[in-house]
Formats: sequence, structure tokens, C-alpha cells
Amino acid sequence: MTGPLMDRASLHPAASRWITLWNGQQALGWDHHGTPVFAFRWAPAGLATRRQLRAMRLCPGGQEPYALLVWRHGQRWAWLYRLDIARPSRVPSPAQLNALDKAMEARRRCQLCGQVEHYCIPTSDGRCHACMTSTYATAA
Ligand SMILES: [Zn+2]
Repeated sequence: MTGPLMDRASLHPAASRWITLWNGQQALGWDHHGTPVFAFRWAPAGLATRRQLRAMRLCPGGQEPYALLVWRHGQRWAWLYRLDIARPSRVPSPAQLNALDKAMEARRRCQLCGQVEHYCIPTSDGRCHACMTSTYATAA
């Protein structure tokens, strides 16, 4: 979105009021058409931005944003989501991890001797170091 969310006057500390939260706690903030607005340092515990959720390996999980976080006099803002109804962000399932392991193993398997190496075999050649060097040795 472009421009400030709210003007400086409506974000003045004198215009703030106590807002009752979903958990019954109160926090000092403003009201923006029914959406609670909190300044950076006054944001109540239990709310987090999408970025903060991601850092905790969580996602909003379909919930509507609960409040707005504003800083730099309303020039910058972000949605705040409730932590108590946030969901774990998708982590790979064991089956997906197994498939990943298989794919990684395929990349480490020598196409000549079938040995699985501890390093990735160059896809251009497909042979392990031992096979490559032995080929060179027989060619020499
Ligand atoms: Zn080999």
C-alpha cells in the first residue's frame, strides 16, 4: 500500500486509548476503523508479524490479521497475527525427506561401479574419482 496508514495526529500518544484484546488483556493503542493499531514498542505480547511468525516456523494459518503494527509515525506498518492460533509452517514429511535422500543418493552414485560416494558425482561425467583415475591410468 502507498502512503501512510494514519496521519501523525491520529497516531499521537494523546489520541491513544486502552484496547481490550482477545484474551481480555488491555494494551495502549489506537483504533483504525475497528482494527487495533499498536506502535512498535507498545505492541502487546501474543501478537506477531508475518516475518516474526516465519522466524518461529509458524504461519498465520488462515486467520485474519488481528491488529496493525505501525512505526515511523505511521509511514511503515505491518499486520499483526495472533500467536495462539498460528499454525506450524509446513515442514517436509518423512516421505518427502526420504525422496530427497534418494535423490541425493542418486547424485552420489557412480554410474560405472555403482558405489555411493560421500561427495556429489559430477553430472557431466557420472563416474566417481576412483573410476575416473583408473580410466586415466589404463588410457595412459
Ligand atoms: Zn566408480
